[in-house]
Amino acid sequence: AQEIGRDLGRLLSIRRALLVEQDAVEELRELDVYKSRLIATVAHELRNPIAVTRTRLETLAELVDGADHGAGDAGQALDAMSRAAARMSRLVEDLLLLAKASDPTAEDHEPTDLTPHVVSTVQLVLDSADRPVGAVHLDVPDEPVVAPVDPSAFEKVVANLVGNAVKYTPPDRGVRVSLLRQDGRVVLRVRDEGIGIAPEDQARVFGEFFRSADPAVRQQPGTGLGLAIVERIVTNHGGRVELESTPGRGSTFTVVLPAG
Ligand code: ADP
Repeated sequence: AQEIGRDLGRLLSIRRALLVEQDAVEELRELDVYKSRLIATVAHELRNPIAVTRTRLETLAELVDGADHGAGDAGQALDAMSRAAARMSRLVEDLLLLAKASDPTAEDHEPTDLTPHVVSTVQLVLDSADRPVGAVHLDVPDEPVVAPVDPSAFEKVVANLVGNAVKYTPPDRGVRVSLLRQDGRVVLRVRDEGIGIAPEDQARVFGEFFRSADPAVRQQPGTGLGLAIVERIVTNHGGRVELESTPGRGSTFTVVLPAG
């Protein structure tokens, strides 16, 4: 009876410890949701003033272009301000997307044929590139590739991975995007022949605000939030992202999602 009493005592203290831990986990989860909401609210409030600033800067740039006196210096200053405002705008949009991806209930998963979303998003990335980019080869099967996804979240995954691939690959090298079904799963693979990622950075690229110190990366615009957004969206869909990369040779990002 004494031994049973001791065991019972031990079980009770384990249970108490588990309950405390559960409370702590729950509290952390609530804090995380609160943090995401705060970020979303601040980002949302900044959207409008940044948009106004950008429009007014454009008007000023036109006025300065039209005037001949001192236009050189003023033009350069306005150019720098426009670039800074564009950077702020990218940051605010990415913060909003990160906050949204941190709230899985904000997504609406429905059986979707992924092929048209991949095709149109790749096209959109190519159309919105602000510098010459290399060729993007698309490998998609003829039959539908259906998975339960939130279509706009899935498009964000494709846009960020393909956007990075073309951003970090010289224009004379290629990018290959493939979509396939494999053992009840859907695989989206984005392979580039670009600058690659150093082994010590590979585990860090999915972190918030991480950008490699490589000058070839710092030359390109970016917020360091793209892959954090990708990872959260993929996790919300019950999937995973894998990365293989060799510096100077290229990178392959593979997204595996449960098929419908
Ligand atoms: P961003 O591209 O805005 O800097 P991301 O979160 O999309 O932010 O990527 C984080 C970092 O990972 C990049 O800054 C870069 O160092 C590295 N990276 C991501 N994709 C690639 C790629 N395809 N090739 C080389 N480096 C990459």
